[in-house]
Amino acid sequence: MNFTAGIILFFFFGLIFGSFLNVCIYRIPKGESIIWPVSHCPKCGTPIKPIDNIPVLSYALLGGKCRFCKTRISFRYPLVELLTGVLFAGLFLKFGLSSETLVFSILGLLLITISFIDIDYRLILNKVTLPGILLGAVLTVAFRVLSYKQVLLGFAIGGGGLLFVAVLGSLLFRKESMGMGDIKLAAMIGVFLGVKGTAFSLLVAFFIAALFSAGAMALEKADRHSQIPFGPFIALATFVYLFWGEQMIHWYLQLIL
Ligand SMILES: [Zn+2]
Repeated sequence: MNFTAGIILFFFFGLIFGSFLNVCIYRIPKGESIIWPVSHCPKCGTPIKPIDNIPVLSYALLGGKCRFCKTRISFRYPLVELLTGVLFAGLFLKFGLSSETLVFSILGLLLITISFIDIDYRLILNKVTLPGILLGAVLTVAFRVLSYKQVLLGFAIGGGGLLFVAVLGSLLFRKESMGMGDIKLAAMIGVFLGVKGTAFSLLVAFFIAALFSAGAMALEKADRHSQIPFGPFIALATFVYLFWGEQMIHWYLQLIL
């Protein structure tokens, strides 16, 4: 495939999948079907016509408002679409037409859904992570992205690592620092990335979360007792690993050796 055409194609695939993720993020926590009925305006309930449901473009043309009742539609909808589009294009750019691109695209879809639900509800849902763990384990082995040993070890290091942090946190601070949802999410990362990727992603996630918390406290947007969702940091760190992890590990080893 022509390289530029491939990037554009993957970007558009991503936009379409992103549009579907908006439906998932909105409906899964409410226990609604993600297939039926078609999307409707959250205010007036008017079903959205296909012509008004084109990713990003419709939002721009309608000025971010419902065609009928003119209620403002959140900027999050086009943002999720663009994010998924950029992710898919980036994966094609990095891995080409390969098993990695397929498997990591699916990981990306799971992570974007989990992150935005976590931001909205401070919850990481079993009905996303548990099928995610199963899907990741089957796909990575079937498409030879990882050996089954790496899948098992990744699962143990991800889930076990965060379980350890959770137990340590509750002993030291006498409050729940890490939820069961975070532990299952880390196990899910584990089956997709194996040992090295999981260790990298969790360490980087803690690092970014610490920086973010320090920043939020400095700006007095948060205090020591604020609950900050950890899911988005794990997702962000995983994306950093997928795109730049190998180079960063290489630089780091050169620096210390
Ligand atoms: Zn409306």
